[in-house]
Amino acid sequence: MAVMKFGGTSVGNASAMRQAIALVVRQQEKAAPLVVLSACSGITNKLVSIADAAGRSALDEAMALAGQVRKHHLDLVDELIKGEALKKELLATIEQFSLRLEMLIKGVDIVGELTERSRDMFCSFGELFSTTVFAAAMKEQGHDAEWLDVRTVMITDDNFGFARPIDELCEENTLSIIWPILKRGTVVVTQGYIGSTKDGRTTTLGRGGSDFSAALFGAWLNDDAIQIWTDVDGVMTCDPRLVPEARSIRVMTFSEAAELAYLGAKVLHPDTIAPAVQKNIPVYVLNSWHPDAKGTIITNDPARLSGKSYGGLVKSIAVKKEQCIINVRSNRMLGRHGFMTELFGVFSRYGISVEMISTSEVSVSLTVDEKSFSNELILELKGFGEVDIEHHVATVSVVGDNLRMSRGVAGRIFGALKDVNLRMISQGASEINVGFVVEESEVATAVSTLHREFFSDLEGSGIFEVPAGSR
Ligand code: ASP
Ligand code: MG
Repeated sequence: MAVMKFGGTSVGNASAMRQAIALVVRQQEKAAPLVVLSACSGITNKLVSIADAAGRSALDEAMALAGQVRKHHLDLVDELIKGEALKKELLATIEQFSLRLEMLIKGVDIVGELTERSRDMFCSFGELFSTTVFAAAMKEQGHDAEWLDVRTVMITDDNFGFARPIDELCEENTLSIIWPILKRGTVVVTQGYIGSTKDGRTTTLGRGGSDFSAALFGAWLNDDAIQIWTDVDGVMTCDPRLVPEARSIRVMTFSEAAELAYLGAKVLHPDTIAPAVQKNIPVYVLNSWHPDAKGTIITNDPARLSGKSYGGLVKSIAVKKEQCIINVRSNRMLGRHGFMTELFGVFSRYGISVEMISTSEVSVSLTVDEKSFSNELILELKGFGEVDIEHHVATVSVVGDNLRMSRGVAGRIFGALKDVNLRMISQGASEINVGFVVEESEVATAVSTLHREFFSDLEGSGIFEVPAGSR
Protein backbone atom coordinates (compact mmCIF):
# COMPACT_ATOMS: atom_id res chain seq x y z
CA MET A 1 0.00 0.00 0.00
CA ALA A 2 1.17 3.54 -0.64
CA VAL A 3 0.68 7.11 0.49
CA MET A 4 0.45 9.49 -2.47
CA LYS A 5 1.07 13.11 -1.63
CA PHE A 6 0.40 15.79 -4.23
CA GLY A 7 1.92 19.23 -3.80
CA GLY A 8 0.23 22.53 -4.60
CA THR A 9 1.20 22.67 -8.28
CA SER A 10 0.07 19.06 -8.78
CA VAL A 11 -3.48 20.00 -7.70
CA GLY A 12 -3.39 23.72 -8.55
CA ASN A 13 -5.90 23.75 -11.41
CA ALA A 14 -8.36 21.48 -13.19
CA SER A 15 -5.87 19.85 -15.56
CA ALA A 16 -3.39 19.23 -12.72
CA MET A 17 -6.16 17.61 -10.69
CA ARG A 18 -7.23 15.42 -13.59
CA GLN A 19 -3.66 14.30 -14.04
CA ALA A 20 -3.29 13.54 -10.32
CA ILE A 21 -6.55 11.61 -10.31
CA ALA A 22 -5.34 9.47 -13.21
CA LEU A 23 -2.25 8.61 -11.16
CA VAL A 24 -4.32 7.73 -8.10
CA VAL A 25 -6.55 5.49 -10.19
CA ARG A 26 -3.53 3.74 -11.68
CA GLN A 27 -2.29 3.07 -8.14
CA GLN A 28 -5.73 1.94 -6.98
CA GLU A 29 -5.56 -0.94 -9.44
CA LYS A 30 -2.83 -2.40 -7.20
CA ALA A 31 -4.19 -1.28 -3.81
CA ALA A 32 -6.19 1.76 -2.73
CA PRO A 33 -3.76 4.49 -1.70
CA LEU A 34 -4.10 7.15 0.96
CA VAL A 35 -4.07 10.46 -0.91
CA VAL A 36 -2.66 13.44 1.01
CA LEU A 37 -3.07 16.82 -0.63
CA SER A 38 -1.60 20.29 -0.31
CA ALA A 39 -3.68 23.37 -0.92
CA CYS A 40 -3.81 24.53 -4.57
CA SER A 41 -0.61 26.43 -5.28
CA GLY A 42 -0.64 30.00 -4.01
CA ILE A 43 -3.69 29.51 -1.78
CA THR A 44 -1.86 29.08 1.55
CA ASN A 45 0.09 32.28 0.84
CA LYS A 46 -3.21 34.04 0.21
CA LEU A 47 -4.65 32.71 3.45
CA VAL A 48 -1.61 34.00 5.32
CA SER A 49 -2.20 37.43 3.76
CA ILE A 50 -5.88 37.24 4.70
CA ALA A 51 -4.95 36.45 8.30
CA ASP A 52 -2.49 39.35 8.42
CA ALA A 53 -4.97 41.75 6.85
CA ALA A 54 -7.68 40.72 9.32
CA GLY A 55 -5.22 41.16 12.19
CA ARG A 56 -4.52 44.71 10.99
CA SER A 57 -8.28 45.30 10.70
CA ALA A 58 -7.91 45.78 6.94
CA LEU A 59 -11.31 44.24 6.51
CA ASP A 60 -11.86 45.11 2.84
CA GLU A 61 -8.50 43.74 1.82
CA ALA A 62 -9.10 40.50 3.72
CA MET A 63 -12.58 40.05 2.27
CA ALA A 64 -11.36 40.74 -1.27
CA LEU A 65 -8.65 38.09 -0.93
CA ALA A 66 -11.14 35.64 0.55
CA GLY A 67 -13.31 36.32 -2.51
CA GLN A 68 -10.38 35.28 -4.73
CA VAL A 69 -9.90 32.07 -2.77
CA ARG A 70 -13.59 31.28 -3.04
CA LYS A 71 -13.63 32.01 -6.77
CA HIS A 72 -10.58 29.84 -7.45
CA HIS A 73 -12.38 26.82 -6.02
CA LEU A 74 -15.76 27.60 -7.54
CA ASP A 75 -14.06 27.78 -10.96
CA LEU A 76 -12.36 24.49 -10.26
CA VAL A 77 -15.70 22.86 -9.48
CA ASP A 78 -17.17 24.34 -12.61
CA GLU A 79 -14.46 22.84 -14.77
CA LEU A 80 -14.25 19.47 -13.08
CA ILE A 81 -17.78 18.54 -12.10
CA LYS A 82 -20.57 18.13 -14.61
CA GLY A 83 -23.16 16.04 -12.73
CA GLU A 84 -25.91 18.36 -11.45
CA ALA A 85 -26.54 16.79 -8.05
CA LEU A 86 -22.87 16.38 -7.16
CA LYS A 87 -22.09 19.88 -8.35
CA LYS A 88 -24.84 21.37 -6.22
CA GLU A 89 -23.65 19.54 -3.15
CA LEU A 90 -20.05 20.53 -3.77
CA LEU A 91 -20.84 24.18 -4.38
CA ALA A 92 -22.75 24.20 -1.10
CA THR A 93 -19.69 22.84 0.71
CA ILE A 94 -17.41 25.44 -0.90
CA GLU A 95 -19.84 28.19 0.11
CA GLN A 96 -19.94 26.85 3.63
CA PHE A 97 -16.14 26.89 3.94
CA SER A 98 -16.06 30.39 2.43
CA LEU A 99 -18.67 31.59 4.88
CA ARG A 100 -16.64 30.21 7.77
CA LEU A 101 -13.54 31.92 6.43
CA GLU A 102 -15.42 35.22 6.27
CA MET A 103 -16.75 34.78 9.78
CA LEU A 104 -13.20 34.19 10.97
CA ILE A 105 -12.03 37.37 9.24
CA LYS A 106 -14.79 39.37 10.91
CA GLY A 107 -14.08 37.81 14.29
CA VAL A 108 -10.36 38.65 14.14
CA ASP A 109 -11.19 42.11 12.85
CA ILE A 110 -13.50 42.78 15.78
CA VAL A 111 -11.09 41.44 18.38
CA GLY A 112 -8.28 43.35 16.66
CA GLU A 113 -5.76 40.63 17.39
CA LEU A 114 -4.42 37.74 15.35
CA THR A 115 -3.27 34.84 17.52
CA GLU A 116 -1.25 31.84 16.32
CA ARG A 117 -4.34 29.80 16.99
CA SER A 118 -6.52 31.82 14.64
CA ARG A 119 -3.73 31.97 12.06
CA ASP A 120 -3.77 28.16 11.89
CA MET A 121 -7.52 28.23 11.47
CA PHE A 122 -7.08 30.57 8.46
CA CYS A 123 -4.36 28.42 6.93
CA SER A 124 -6.35 25.21 7.22
CA PHE A 125 -8.89 26.22 4.58
CA GLY A 126 -6.58 25.68 1.61
CA GLU A 127 -6.29 21.94 2.18
CA LEU A 128 -9.96 21.61 3.11
CA PHE A 129 -10.92 23.17 -0.22
CA SER A 130 -8.49 21.23 -2.40
CA THR A 131 -9.34 17.82 -0.92
CA THR A 132 -13.08 18.44 -1.11
CA VAL A 133 -12.91 19.20 -4.83
CA PHE A 134 -10.48 16.34 -5.52
CA ALA A 135 -12.60 13.71 -3.77
CA ALA A 136 -15.74 14.88 -5.59
CA ALA A 137 -13.96 14.83 -8.95
CA MET A 138 -12.89 11.24 -8.30
CA LYS A 139 -16.44 10.26 -7.43
CA GLU A 140 -17.79 11.94 -10.52
CA GLN A 141 -15.49 9.82 -12.65
CA GLY A 142 -16.98 6.78 -10.94
CA HIS A 143 -14.02 5.96 -8.70
CA ASP A 144 -14.38 4.65 -5.23
CA ALA A 145 -13.08 7.47 -3.02
CA GLU A 146 -13.89 8.99 0.34
CA TRP A 147 -13.07 12.45 1.72
CA LEU A 148 -11.70 12.45 5.25
CA ASP A 149 -11.29 15.35 7.64
CA VAL A 150 -7.75 14.68 8.80
CA ARG A 151 -8.47 16.44 12.07
CA THR A 152 -10.20 13.30 13.29
CA VAL A 153 -6.92 11.40 12.89
CA MET A 154 -3.96 13.81 13.07
CA ILE A 155 -4.08 14.79 16.75
CA THR A 156 -1.30 17.17 17.71
CA ASP A 157 0.02 19.24 20.59
CA ASP A 158 -1.10 22.86 20.84
CA ASN A 159 2.05 24.41 19.44
CA PHE A 160 0.06 26.37 16.86
CA GLY A 161 1.96 27.09 13.66
CA PHE A 162 4.36 24.20 14.26
CA ALA A 163 2.31 21.49 15.93
CA ARG A 164 3.74 17.99 16.39
CA PRO A 165 1.58 14.85 16.30
CA ILE A 166 0.86 12.74 19.37
CA ASP A 167 2.28 9.61 17.86
CA GLU A 168 0.47 6.77 19.64
CA LEU A 169 -2.88 8.47 19.34
CA CYS A 170 -2.44 9.19 15.64
CA GLU A 171 -1.23 5.69 14.87
CA GLU A 172 -4.25 4.24 16.66
CA ASN A 173 -6.61 6.58 14.76
CA THR A 174 -4.95 5.82 11.44
CA LEU A 175 -5.33 2.10 11.95
CA SER A 176 -8.91 2.29 13.18
CA ILE A 177 -10.23 4.99 10.81
CA ILE A 178 -8.15 5.04 7.60
CA TRP A 179 -6.93 1.46 7.30
CA PRO A 180 -10.37 -0.24 7.14
CA ILE A 181 -11.48 2.09 4.32
CA LEU A 182 -8.33 1.43 2.29
CA LYS A 183 -8.62 -2.29 2.92
CA ARG A 184 -11.97 -2.45 1.20
CA GLY A 185 -10.45 -0.79 -1.86
CA THR A 186 -11.68 2.77 -1.32
CA VAL A 187 -9.23 5.62 -1.86
CA VAL A 188 -9.01 8.00 1.11
CA VAL A 189 -8.50 11.66 0.19
CA THR A 190 -7.31 13.82 3.04
CA GLN A 191 -5.45 17.01 3.97
CA GLY A 192 -1.75 17.36 4.53
CA TYR A 193 -0.36 20.08 6.77
CA ILE A 194 -3.27 20.37 9.20
CA GLY A 195 -4.30 18.62 12.38
CA SER A 196 -6.21 19.21 15.57
CA THR A 197 -5.53 19.35 19.28
CA LYS A 198 -7.26 16.83 21.52
CA ASP A 199 -9.89 19.43 22.31
CA GLY A 200 -10.66 20.09 18.67
CA ARG A 201 -8.62 23.22 17.87
CA THR A 202 -7.26 23.27 14.33
CA THR A 203 -3.45 23.24 14.12
CA THR A 204 -0.85 23.25 11.33
CA LEU A 205 2.47 21.43 11.15
CA GLY A 206 4.37 24.41 9.70
CA ARG A 207 4.68 25.64 6.12
CA GLY A 208 5.41 22.88 3.65
CA GLY A 209 4.13 20.43 6.24
CA SER A 210 2.11 18.21 3.94
CA ASP A 211 5.19 16.16 3.06
CA PHE A 212 5.56 15.55 6.77
CA SER A 213 1.91 14.47 6.99
CA ALA A 214 2.46 12.01 4.16
CA ALA A 215 5.56 10.53 5.78
CA LEU A 216 3.80 10.18 9.12
CA PHE A 217 0.88 8.35 7.56
CA GLY A 218 3.28 6.15 5.63
CA ALA A 219 4.92 5.20 8.92
CA TRP A 220 1.65 4.65 10.82
CA LEU A 221 0.26 2.49 8.01
CA ASN A 222 3.60 0.74 7.64
CA ASP A 223 3.35 1.35 3.91
CA ASP A 224 5.66 0.04 1.19
CA ALA A 225 6.25 3.51 -0.22
CA ILE A 226 5.62 7.19 0.22
CA GLN A 227 5.18 8.96 -3.11
CA ILE A 228 5.75 12.71 -3.12
CA TRP A 229 4.28 14.00 -6.39
CA THR A 230 5.50 17.43 -7.39
CA ASP A 231 6.36 19.43 -10.50
CA VAL A 232 10.04 18.53 -10.83
CA ASP A 233 11.67 15.29 -11.95
CA GLY A 234 12.74 14.19 -8.48
CA VAL A 235 15.67 15.61 -6.59
CA MET A 236 18.07 17.29 -8.96
CA THR A 237 21.85 17.51 -9.01
CA CYS A 238 21.33 21.26 -8.74
CA ASP A 239 18.78 23.93 -9.52
CA PRO A 240 18.04 23.59 -13.27
CA ARG A 241 17.45 27.33 -13.45
CA LEU A 242 21.11 27.79 -12.54
CA VAL A 243 22.53 24.94 -14.60
CA PRO A 244 20.54 23.61 -17.57
CA GLU A 245 22.57 20.37 -17.48
CA ALA A 246 21.08 19.52 -14.07
CA ARG A 247 20.10 15.86 -13.82
CA SER A 248 17.56 13.97 -11.77
CA ILE A 249 19.18 11.78 -9.10
CA ARG A 250 18.00 8.15 -9.21
CA VAL A 251 18.79 6.99 -5.68
CA MET A 252 19.93 8.85 -2.62
CA THR A 253 20.23 8.09 1.06
CA PHE A 254 18.06 9.62 3.76
CA SER A 255 21.03 11.51 5.17
CA GLU A 256 21.85 13.02 1.79
CA ALA A 257 18.25 14.11 1.34
CA ALA A 258 18.02 15.58 4.84
CA GLU A 259 21.29 17.44 4.39
CA LEU A 260 20.15 18.83 1.06
CA ALA A 261 16.83 19.95 2.46
CA TYR A 262 18.57 21.83 5.25
CA LEU A 263 21.02 23.33 2.80
CA GLY A 264 18.47 24.92 0.56
CA ALA A 265 17.10 22.32 -1.87
CA LYS A 266 13.38 23.00 -2.06
CA VAL A 267 12.13 19.53 -2.79
CA LEU A 268 11.50 18.07 0.64
CA HIS A 269 10.67 19.32 4.07
CA PRO A 270 13.54 18.11 6.29
CA ASP A 271 11.20 16.67 8.91
CA THR A 272 9.68 14.48 6.22
CA ILE A 273 12.67 12.26 6.50
CA ALA A 274 12.39 11.27 10.15
CA PRO A 275 9.24 9.10 10.24
CA ALA A 276 10.20 7.39 6.99
CA VAL A 277 13.76 6.67 8.14
CA GLN A 278 12.58 5.12 11.39
CA LYS A 279 10.54 2.54 9.52
CA ASN A 280 12.85 2.32 6.52
CA ILE A 281 10.08 3.21 4.09
CA PRO A 282 11.37 4.48 0.75
CA VAL A 283 10.29 7.95 -0.29
CA TYR A 284 9.78 8.51 -4.03
CA VAL A 285 9.95 12.04 -5.38
CA LEU A 286 8.03 12.08 -8.66
CA ASN A 287 6.72 14.52 -11.24
CA SER A 288 2.97 14.36 -11.80
CA TRP A 289 3.48 15.90 -15.26
CA HIS A 290 6.01 13.21 -16.26
CA PRO A 291 4.68 10.21 -14.37
CA ASP A 292 6.77 7.71 -16.28
CA ALA A 293 10.07 9.37 -15.49
CA LYS A 294 11.87 7.45 -12.79
CA GLY A 295 12.13 10.27 -10.25
CA THR A 296 14.26 9.89 -7.14
CA ILE A 297 14.12 7.14 -4.53
CA ILE A 298 15.27 8.14 -1.08
CA THR A 299 16.14 5.06 0.90
CA ASN A 300 18.65 3.36 3.18
CA ASP A 301 17.91 -0.08 1.79
CA PRO A 302 21.32 -1.74 1.26
CA ALA A 303 20.00 -3.64 -1.78
CA ARG A 304 19.17 -0.39 -3.56
CA LEU A 305 22.35 1.31 -2.43
CA SER A 306 24.51 -1.46 -3.85
CA GLY A 307 22.71 -1.33 -7.19
CA LYS A 308 24.18 0.43 -10.18
CA SER A 309 21.83 3.40 -9.96
CA TYR A 310 23.41 4.52 -6.69
CA GLY A 311 26.81 6.11 -6.71
CA GLY A 312 28.80 9.15 -7.61
CA LEU A 313 31.00 11.18 -5.34
CA VAL A 314 28.89 14.31 -5.20
CA LYS A 315 25.14 13.84 -5.15
CA SER A 316 23.95 17.37 -5.41
CA ILE A 317 24.86 21.03 -5.11
CA ALA A 318 22.53 23.16 -2.98
CA VAL A 319 22.38 26.93 -2.98
CA LYS A 320 20.91 29.36 -0.48
CA LYS A 321 20.71 32.89 -1.75
CA GLU A 322 19.96 36.06 0.20
CA GLN A 323 22.40 35.32 2.96
CA CYS A 324 24.79 37.64 4.71
CA ILE A 325 28.13 37.07 6.35
CA ILE A 326 28.72 38.46 9.81
CA ASN A 327 32.34 38.55 10.84
CA VAL A 328 33.20 39.21 14.49
CA ARG A 329 36.82 39.86 15.30
CA SER A 330 38.01 40.14 18.87
CA ASN A 331 41.27 39.77 20.77
CA ARG A 332 39.16 38.73 23.71
CA MET A 333 38.76 35.32 22.08
CA LEU A 334 42.43 34.52 22.35
CA GLY A 335 42.91 31.74 24.91
CA ARG A 336 39.60 32.52 26.60
CA HIS A 337 36.69 30.22 27.27
CA GLY A 338 33.02 31.04 27.23
CA PHE A 339 33.30 33.55 24.39
CA MET A 340 31.42 31.41 21.88
CA THR A 341 28.63 30.65 24.33
CA GLU A 342 28.07 34.34 24.90
CA LEU A 343 28.30 35.18 21.22
CA PHE A 344 25.85 32.49 20.11
CA GLY A 345 23.62 33.38 23.05
CA VAL A 346 22.90 36.62 21.20
CA PHE A 347 21.69 34.78 18.09
CA SER A 348 19.63 32.46 20.21
CA ARG A 349 17.96 35.37 22.01
CA TYR A 350 17.04 36.90 18.66
CA GLY A 351 15.78 33.52 17.44
CA ILE A 352 18.17 33.65 14.49
CA SER A 353 19.45 30.47 12.96
CA VAL A 354 23.12 30.49 12.06
CA GLU A 355 23.75 28.65 8.81
CA MET A 356 27.47 28.32 8.21
CA ILE A 357 30.30 28.94 10.66
CA SER A 358 34.03 29.21 10.38
CA THR A 359 36.35 30.34 13.16
CA SER A 360 39.94 31.22 13.81
CA GLU A 361 41.60 32.09 17.10
CA VAL A 362 40.55 35.73 16.86
CA SER A 363 37.53 35.82 14.60
CA VAL A 364 34.24 34.10 13.94
CA SER A 365 32.56 34.26 10.56
CA LEU A 366 29.03 33.09 10.16
CA THR A 367 26.15 33.39 7.76
CA VAL A 368 22.54 34.17 8.52
CA ASP A 369 19.54 34.65 6.32
CA GLU A 370 19.29 38.24 5.11
CA LYS A 371 15.72 38.36 6.44
CA SER A 372 16.85 37.79 10.02
CA PHE A 373 19.46 40.55 9.86
CA SER A 374 18.78 43.58 12.02
CA ASN A 375 20.66 46.63 13.23
CA GLU A 376 19.86 45.79 16.87
CA LEU A 377 21.58 42.44 16.40
CA ILE A 378 24.69 44.10 14.98
CA LEU A 379 24.73 46.66 17.77
CA GLU A 380 24.71 43.90 20.33
CA LEU A 381 27.43 41.96 18.48
CA LYS A 382 29.61 45.05 18.50
CA GLY A 383 29.89 44.51 22.26
CA PHE A 384 32.10 41.52 21.40
CA GLY A 385 34.53 43.22 19.03
CA GLU A 386 34.81 44.58 15.52
CA VAL A 387 31.92 43.52 13.29
CA ASP A 388 31.95 43.45 9.45
CA ILE A 389 28.96 42.53 7.37
CA GLU A 390 28.79 41.36 3.77
CA HIS A 391 25.40 41.42 2.12
CA HIS A 392 24.26 39.73 -1.13
CA VAL A 393 26.11 36.48 -0.64
CA ALA A 394 24.98 32.89 -1.14
CA THR A 395 25.99 29.63 0.50
CA VAL A 396 26.82 26.78 -1.85
CA SER A 397 27.01 23.24 -0.45
CA VAL A 398 28.34 20.17 -2.17
CA VAL A 399 26.62 17.10 -0.71
CA GLY A 400 27.23 13.37 -0.97
CA ASP A 401 27.61 10.45 1.47
CA ASN A 402 30.70 9.35 -0.42
CA LEU A 403 32.50 12.61 0.31
CA ARG A 404 33.18 11.26 3.78
CA MET A 405 35.44 8.47 2.59
CA SER A 406 37.10 10.17 -0.32
CA ARG A 407 40.43 11.90 -0.52
CA GLY A 408 41.12 14.86 -2.70
CA VAL A 409 37.56 16.12 -2.88
CA ALA A 410 38.35 19.53 -1.41
CA GLY A 411 41.21 19.81 -3.91
CA ARG A 412 38.86 19.12 -6.79
CA ILE A 413 36.23 21.54 -5.51
CA PHE A 414 38.54 24.43 -4.86
CA GLY A 415 40.71 23.69 -7.90
CA ALA A 416 37.63 23.99 -10.08
CA LEU A 417 36.71 27.23 -8.35
CA LYS A 418 40.08 28.89 -8.75
CA ASP A 419 38.59 31.92 -10.49
CA VAL A 420 35.74 32.42 -8.03
CA ASN A 421 36.10 34.77 -5.08
CA LEU A 422 35.37 32.53 -2.06
CA ARG A 423 34.25 34.58 0.90
CA MET A 424 34.12 31.77 3.44
CA ILE A 425 34.68 28.00 3.59
CA SER A 426 33.29 25.43 5.99
CA GLN A 427 33.60 21.68 6.33
CA GLY A 428 32.85 19.47 9.33
CA ALA A 429 35.11 16.55 10.26
CA SER A 430 32.75 13.72 9.44
CA GLU A 431 30.40 15.70 7.31
CA ILE A 432 28.88 14.75 4.03
CA ASN A 433 28.98 18.29 2.77
CA VAL A 434 31.53 20.93 1.93
CA GLY A 435 30.19 24.46 2.00
CA PHE A 436 31.40 27.83 0.92
CA VAL A 437 30.11 31.34 0.45
CA VAL A 438 30.31 33.45 -2.70
CA GLU A 439 28.88 36.74 -3.79
CA GLU A 440 25.46 36.28 -5.33
CA SER A 441 26.71 37.52 -8.67
CA GLU A 442 29.12 34.57 -8.82
CA VAL A 443 26.71 31.79 -7.88
CA ALA A 444 25.87 30.74 -11.43
CA THR A 445 29.54 30.49 -12.44
CA ALA A 446 30.50 28.62 -9.28
CA VAL A 447 27.69 26.10 -9.55
CA SER A 448 28.06 25.38 -13.25
CA THR A 449 31.81 24.95 -12.86
CA LEU A 450 31.31 22.46 -10.04
CA HIS A 451 28.56 20.69 -11.91
CA ARG A 452 30.89 20.16 -14.86
CA GLU A 453 33.67 18.97 -12.55
CA PHE A 454 31.62 16.31 -10.76
CA PHE A 455 28.83 15.28 -13.10
CA SER A 456 29.94 15.54 -16.71
CA ASP A 457 31.87 12.24 -16.66
CA LEU A 458 28.88 10.42 -15.16
CA GLU A 459 26.60 10.95 -18.16
CA GLY A 460 25.10 7.62 -19.16
CA SER A 461 26.17 5.88 -15.93
CA GLY A 462 22.56 5.28 -14.84
CA ILE A 463 23.11 7.15 -11.58
CA PHE A 464 21.34 10.20 -12.93
CA GLU A 465 18.55 10.74 -15.44
CA VAL A 466 18.04 13.46 -17.97
CA PRO A 467 14.92 15.20 -16.64
CA ALA A 468 11.86 14.29 -18.73
CA GLY A 469 11.08 17.95 -19.29
CA SER A 470 14.27 18.54 -21.23
CA ARG A 471 14.42 15.31 -23.21
N1 ASP B 1 -0.19 24.26 1.86
C1 ASP B 1 0.84 24.31 2.85
C2 ASP B 1 1.92 25.31 2.46
O1 ASP B 1 1.84 25.90 1.39
C3 ASP B 1 1.43 22.98 3.14
C4 ASP B 1 2.12 22.32 1.98
O2 ASP B 1 1.85 22.58 0.82
O3 ASP B 1 2.97 21.45 2.24
O4 ASP B 1 2.82 25.51 3.22
MG1 MG C 1 4.97 21.64 -0.49
